[in-house]
Amino acid sequence: MESILVLTHADESGSALTRQSLEAVTAGKELAARLGASLTIGIVAADGNRVASAVKHAGPRLLAVKGDAFAQARFASDAAACEALCRAAQATIVVAPQSSRFARVMAAVALRISGVIDTHITALAGAETVEATRWFYRQRIEAVVTRTARPWFLLLDSGTHEPYAGEAGDAQVDEVYIAVELPALRTEVTGFRAPKQDEQTIRPDAKLLFVAGAGWTKKQPDGAVHVEEAGRLILDFLRASGASLGSSKSLVDQGGEGQSVLPFLTHMNQVGQTGSTPRHAKGLSTCCHGEEPHVVGWRFIGERRAISLDANCGWTRGKADVVYIADAFQVMAKVNELLKS
Ligand SMILES: Cc1cc2nc3c(=O)[nH]c(=O)nc-3n(C[C@H](O)[C@H](O)[C@H](O)COP(=O)(O)OP(=O)(O)OC[C@H]3O[C@@H](n4cnc5c(N)ncnc54)[C@H](O)[C@@H]3O)c2cc1C
Repeated sequence: MESILVLTHADESGSALTRQSLEAVTAGKELAARLGASLTIGIVAADGNRVASAVKHAGPRLLAVKGDAFAQARFASDAAACEALCRAAQATIVVAPQSSRFARVMAAVALRISGVIDTHITALAGAETVEATRWFYRQRIEAVVTRTARPWFLLLDSGTHEPYAGEAGDAQVDEVYIAVELPALRTEVTGFRAPKQDEQTIRPDAKLLFVAGAGWTKKQPDGAVHVEEAGRLILDFLRASGASLGSSKSLVDQGGEGQSVLPFLTHMNQVGQTGSTPRHAKGLSTCCHGEEPHVVGWRFIGERRAISLDANCGWTRGKADVVYIADAFQVMAKVNELLKS
């Protein structure tokens, strides 16, 4: 019979588990119920007691590591913690969030305990055996993976499950703290440097993805470029709507090619084959042609709309639900005016 361990970690405040961790708990619970398997929740945090209440009722068994070394992400301490939790749980299936913190340690943890690992899992199915779904070739081919090797580590992509929201309770995990033998720690985490909130344009939890294409910096019908106006219109819209900002490759590449650029865009915003594949309920593409290598990054966007001057653009050829053949400068100015009022 399978035994499942869900590995979770605290957020930067140290007082709550991350949303992605809670998604992994949901996936682990559902899988355990289907397989009739035992379920253990493992917690990596400085103080498991502070965060355990959120998952106290998720499974019969809670394991945690304890100590200041686990307050922040660092390969040596996180890998040691996860390894200790896996050895203590003796699980055959390990489910964990594909967070930056866990993604960089989990392959090493799997190796240390002679396991195998699959990453970017989007769904778990199967009642007799575990069937894990993931996409290949930049979201063009969907595969269902099964394995006989154990332990099998599965890193879950974010936004694929509802975060676990079971009944909270007073958690006492003292009796289940796992001792971790830490190696020499050569990396000291001195703090975070993050952009100011209003400069933070990538918002994975936003309902809407707003995508800017190269058209914003191209010559417009009056023969001139209007980059400053474009920047103002886009930032005003983001502030008013709370949307996340994506970009086409052409637009973010322009900086390196010495052309006019929107200063708040980086390659981190790029959506597509060589960019990201974000998950949002809706998407609005502006001044973008809708070419296949870009649109493949829209795989997980629920409802797609686009504004382009070109009536023959890729969006009009079946890639968007609604296409406005219009000037995005005019449309977004009007939308911003409406949002303000
Ligand atoms: C191997 C490979 C990988 C790639 N990976 C990616 C990727 O990850 N992401 C990506 O985006 N691309 C990728 N590309 C590039 C992709 O094929 C396109 O070149 C790119 O997406 C085009 O960007 P764009 O639509 O913004 O620019 P353009 O093709 O220049 O289109 C600009 C559009 O703006 C419209 N426009 C101009 N002014 C206005 C206005 N005022 N109002 C409304 N519309 C206006 C124009 O009509 C035009 O349709 C890749 C290509 C290759 C070969």
